[in-house]
Amino acid sequence: MPIALYPGSFDPIHNGHIDIAERAARLFERVVVAVYDSPSSKRLLFSTDERLALATASLSHIANAQVMAYRGLTVDIAHEIGATAIVRGLRATSDYEYESQLALTNKALAPDLDAVMLITNLRYAYLSASILKEVAALGGDISRWTPPMVREALLKRFT
Ligand code: ADP
Repeated sequence: MPIALYPGSFDPIHNGHIDIAERAARLFERVVVAVYDSPSSKRLLFSTDERLALATASLSHIANAQVMAYRGLTVDIAHEIGATAIVRGLRATSDYEYESQLALTNKALAPDLDAVMLITNLRYAYLSASILKEVAALGGDISRWTPPMVREALLKRFT
C-alpha cells in the first residue's frame, strides 16, 4: 500500500494543513508530514523544533500519520521513507503555478514519484500561514483557523 510524503514549512501548522493531512491519510496507508528544516529562502517565525512539536500535537488524532523534520531535497526524503507520492495542497490558481513548477522539477529529479494535489477545503481556501501570523500579530481572533495550542504559541510569540 502506498506511502505519501506531505512536505512543507508549517510555520505554523494551521487548519488548512491539517485538513489536507486528514484527507491524505484516508487515501494512503501512511502519511509522513515532513517539516522542512531551515529553508534558507524563508524567514520563519518558529524554529524547526517548535514547528515539529506543533505539527506533532496537531496531527496526533490521525492514526496513520507521523511527523518528522527533514533537510535537503524533498525527493531524497521521499525515497528514504519509501513514499510513492508527494502530497501538496492547492488553494488558488496562484498556488497552481508554483506547485506545478515544483512537481515538474521533482518529476525530473525522481521520475518514480508522483505529485498528488489536494484541492483545499473551501473553509480554508483563503488561509495561509503568513496571513495567520499577520492577524495574530495585530491581535485578531485566529481561533477558527488553528488548534488551541497553535493559537497559544502565536499569542505567546506576539505578546
Ligand atoms: P511551503 O513553504 O512548502 O509552501 P507551507 O507550510 O506554506 O509550505 O504549505 C505546505 C503545503 O500546504 C503546500 O502545498 C500548501 O499549498 C498547502 N497549504 C497551505 N495552506 C493551505 C490551505 N489553506 N489549504 C490547503 N492547502 C494549504
